[in-house]
Amino acid sequence: MRILLVGAGLSCAVIGRRLAEAGHDCRIIDSRPHIAGNCHTERDGETGVQMHVYGPHIFHTDDAEVWDYVNGFAEFLPYQNRVKSTTQGAVYSLPINLLTINQFFGKTMRPDEARDFIAAQADLTIEDPQNFEEQALRLVGRDLYEAFFKGYTEKQWGCSPTELPASILKRLPVRFNYDDNYFFHRFQGMPKDGYTQMIAAILDHPRITVELETPYAPDMADAADHVFWSGPLDGYFGYELGRLGYRTLDFERFTHDGDYQGCAVMNYGDREVPYTRITEHKHFSPWETHQGSVCYREYSRAAQPEDTPYYPIRLVEEKALLEDYIAAAEAVEGVTFVGRLGTYRYLDMDVTIREALDTAATVLRCIDEGRPVPAFVVSPR
Ligand SMILES: Cc1cc2nc3c(=O)[nH]c(=O)nc-3n(C[C@H](O)[C@H](O)[C@H](O)COP(=O)(O)OP(=O)(O)OC[C@H]3O[C@@H](n4cnc5c(N)ncnc54)[C@H](O)[C@@H]3O)c2cc1C
Repeated sequence: MRILLVGAGLSCAVIGRRLAEAGHDCRIIDSRPHIAGNCHTERDGETGVQMHVYGPHIFHTDDAEVWDYVNGFAEFLPYQNRVKSTTQGAVYSLPINLLTINQFFGKTMRPDEARDFIAAQADLTIEDPQNFEEQALRLVGRDLYEAFFKGYTEKQWGCSPTELPASILKRLPVRFNYDDNYFFHRFQGMPKDGYTQMIAAILDHPRITVELETPYAPDMADAADHVFWSGPLDGYFGYELGRLGYRTLDFERFTHDGDYQGCAVMNYGDREVPYTRITEHKHFSPWETHQGSVCYREYSRAAQPEDTPYYPIRLVEEKALLEDYIAAAEAVEGVTFVGRLGTYRYLDMDVTIREALDTAATVLRCIDEGRPVPAFVVSPR
């Protein structure tokens, strides 16, 4: 079959590769001048630092098949994400752990003592938390909430934590030991030569062609037997029902001679500091040495039509509109909506790959059995 895949990010690269290996011809287009979508990495011309152009990307997963898959296309080196936070005039370790608690409260507690201490901070008068703020107060109490959650969340989401669902904070976001590894996953690492190299290797197949700076036009679908769409779901329909809300990010680049902050990611918890975090890219490649350094100050705001969509908002209003677009998509034949934009969900890279592998398997089965390929292999709900 002749397959058109819209977007040269992880989703369509992985799906295209599987379909190409099964003998189908895959044409992949992207409106941007580079492959790899939001995972794109490139060397900074001035300093030689490997840049995470659309924000920091750390690979972490519990899925052994996905880990084997990425290691088949790139050399991964060990990397553990250790985030710090500057808040109320001091630097703390994240996620909140025993060091954070002892420093913040000026104590020397052992794990059991800290557990009792935090339990005593928790506001148990809130029996049934109705929003993010109430949930945080019930779990960790006002002091930790205000230092580590309130200002950061207001900046990240542009609204009061009282307007966000309680479900965002499911479990107690605190560790009672000194483990400051940000992720719990079994496999964690960074591709030695960057994500774009890895995705270039996935796309390197004789049945795959890639065209950059090529936005989708409806007549392209005429020449294809099936289309995969990893662009925005509402964008496929020309936004005719309205726009699904996104947060976008502005990155303010600056350079520094030497080491600017001593770590890759420094969060800023105070509301008065307008940015959410500073990323110092060379620390993502600790096996490299660079005298110069490049940093991004990261600002979050509501996405306007011309902005890059980053985080889907998915509150009540957006979910209602999403239902309308799901119905519209299910009425279209010959198109499968995939990936973070096509299904309007935040997806980590490992989940993106898992879903892409599953999508390719389902589609190949449908083709074999002569069944129609569904609009969604993974539900956007
Ligand atoms: C700030 C940020 C940080 C992240 N950090 C991590 C992390 O640390 N770890 C992790 O695992 N994951 C992280 N992620 C998630 C990761 O970026 C996604 O999992 C991944 O990018 C999803 O790939 P995709 O192919 O679905 O989408 P994308 O990468 O967005 O690719 C979609 C592509 O489609 C193209 N496109 C859209 N519309 C059209 C059109 N009309 N015509 C042609 N082309 C079009 C776009 O240009 C884009 O290249 C992060 C995401 C963000 C936003």
